[in-house]
Amino acid sequence: MSASVAPTTRTTLRRKADRGRHDRALVHAIVDEALFCHVAVTTAAGPLVLPTVHARVGDHVYLHGATGNALLRTMAEGGEACVAFTLVDGLVLSRSWFHHSMNYRSVVVFGRPERVEDPGEKRAALQALVDHVVPGRSTDTRSPTPEELRATLVVRLSLDEASAKVRTGPPGEEPADLDLDTWAGELPLTLRADAPVPDPHLRDPRQPPPASVTHWTRP
Ligand SMILES: Cc1cc2nc3c(=O)[nH]c(=O)nc-3n(C[C@H](O)[C@H](O)[C@H](O)COP(=O)(O)OP(=O)(O)OC[C@H]3O[C@@H](n4cnc5c(N)ncnc54)[C@H](O)[C@@H]3O)c2cc1C
Repeated sequence: MSASVAPTTRTTLRRKADRGRHDRALVHAIVDEALFCHVAVTTAAGPLVLPTVHARVGDHVYLHGATGNALLRTMAEGGEACVAFTLVDGLVLSRSWFHHSMNYRSVVVFGRPERVEDPGEKRAALQALVDHVVPGRSTDTRSPTPEELRATLVVRLSLDEASAKVRTGPPGEEPADLDLDTWAGELPLTLRADAPVPDPHLRDPRQPPPASVTHWTRP
């Protein structure tokens, strides 16, 4: 696997191209940190974008859902997809309305996902999906029954046609605005968990949460 994803016509950044990246390690890191993604397809009824959970295994992303899921069925039947992964690192607060922005790391991927038929790959993908959300959760919990596996559609999308875009730093201001008294800067944002809330049906209400829950962070 090469260190970079070769840019194609549609993954070549034109606007703020200096923020564009095609190194595979960065693409993988952003995909792994993003809790979920937005998947766009074209259906008979027009464009459709839905948020959904993903998991990366090697150079592929796996998506899953019910066998009747319109988004997944469109992809499983050969439709193209465009998937966006977005991490917001901060709000960029300018002296002007015009230059407000966000600091972010994002990835856009194009491709034609394939339905996962192999039972071993399907099970591994479902395990990766559970562990993507809470690392280690798959070993704390029950694995799927044959009925649950049959009720789940899994597709695999290659990360071969991908771009990353990264913005960091303070607002870009008009030189004349630097004389204004307005406060400007960055408001950093992070995703963090609050205290776990036990399910009311726990057999022992005093049972402590496992380490995978108490130590939860994004990678
Ligand atoms: C949280 C967030 C908020 C944003 N808010 C705004 C906003 O309000 N207004 C605005 O104009 N832009 C915003 N952007 C940037 C936006 O995603 C586009 O990069 C930008 O609008 C340029 O669009 P374009 O069609 O001219 O891109 P082009 O540079 O023409 O896009 C060409 C190709 O570059 C790649 N590309 C473009 N954008 C991204 C990206 N963000 N991540 C990965 N690959 C990318 C894709 O492969 C795309 O097909 C935001 C981005 C993020 C992550």
